[in-house]
Amino acid sequence: MDLFEYQAKELFAKHEVPTSPGRVTDTPADARTIAEEVGKPVMVKAQVKVGGRGKAGGVKYAATPDDAQKYAQDILGMDIKGHTVKRLLVAEASDIAEEYYISFLLDRANRTYLAMCSVEGGVEIEEVAATKPDRLAKVPVDAVKGVDVAFARSIAEQGHLPAEVLDAAAVTIQKLWEVFINEDATLVEVNPLVRTPDDQILALDGKVTLDANADFRQPGHAEFEDTAAADPLELKAKENDLNYVKLDGQVGVIGNGAGLVMSTLDVVAYAGEKHGGVKPANFLDIGGGASATIMAAGLDVILGDDQVKSVFVNVFGGITSCVAVAEGIIEALKTLGDAANKPLVVRLDGNSVEDGRRILAEANHPLVTVVGTMDEAADKAAELAAK
Ligand code: GDP
Ligand code: MN
Repeated sequence: MDLFEYQAKELFAKHEVPTSPGRVTDTPADARTIAEEVGKPVMVKAQVKVGGRGKAGGVKYAATPDDAQKYAQDILGMDIKGHTVKRLLVAEASDIAEEYYISFLLDRANRTYLAMCSVEGGVEIEEVAATKPDRLAKVPVDAVKGVDVAFARSIAEQGHLPAEVLDAAAVTIQKLWEVFINEDATLVEVNPLVRTPDDQILALDGKVTLDANADFRQPGHAEFEDTAAADPLELKAKENDLNYVKLDGQVGVIGNGAGLVMSTLDVVAYAGEKHGGVKPANFLDIGGGASATIMAAGLDVILGDDQVKSVFVNVFGGITSCVAVAEGIIEALKTLGDAANKPLVVRLDGNSVEDGRRILAEANHPLVTVVGTMDEAADKAAELAAK
């Protein structure tokens, strides 16, 4: 999960990373109040989960509370790279002497953590990497040893930060490492990390990605969820622990196993070309144990999508037998009652397939068509969706 800047800064504050004081709001009047509270010029900053807000006009310096209100008015509702601004961070404007870059991230390719540091901050780091690669230090971090202040100082030194600020930078960089490790992040990035005229080091921006696999031991992270922005169907799926991604086609897809579902999307898109270009409506993996409850929850989510015209249930019985899946489908249709109102094309194969098909044939449900192969089933589902 990616965090908004203001949320990243909440984590920074928790781990004593110095930032500029401020608050988040969603009204211009409140932006003025915050500016008055701060009592100094403030930055009014669009909160969207995308970089380059400054260039897009989403970060403004406001000398007075009047200006803060005016800029808040301008920035709220603004579209930045497809993201609508719904919230603002209003924070004390700092005097900047220099801008640096620092990040910790998970380097999957090299199976390690990585620190990146550069004296060339405030611009896009990809640009620094391309034009001045010698100015960008990439320092592997041993997961067991971690980062102490001495190592943090070495990272800063390798990033060519000036000698006068190495001590202060080391302390802040070590605390950012604490954020990275203790919050189970896969990315902590600060751009710019600034040097003030009096040689303080402040994190003026913050980008944090949290590892959702660690949610079970990070109960505090639930509040960072942006429920307002999430698709209601995706929320419902999440409540039921389903792996669901909404797409924009017409054929609902349910399968067991991410690989099978991915290839189902492909065959549906391919078959759809012959039926007026219908496409898959979603990705939904119900996993290994396809019980009736899970099947019902999955169907419920998919049928709740108004764009869906037909559903393709593609299950390969492995550990779960096709009998359980077939019974699950029948049970699910019973549970859903009138809510089940779109044709289902079912393709079963694998463990106990004969018994599974027999159960579906005997149930003879008016909405269910059983088809032998994946390609034929995709074609049938696409045809029904195109009707
Ligand atoms: P981004 O464009 O989305 O990365 O947003 P940032 O938070 O990094 O802000 C963009 C730029 O605005 C920074 O690189 C700074 O140059 C400038 N900026 C941000 N905060 C302050 C501040 O407190 N004081 C001053 N003078 N400039 C700031
Ligand atoms: Mn930035």
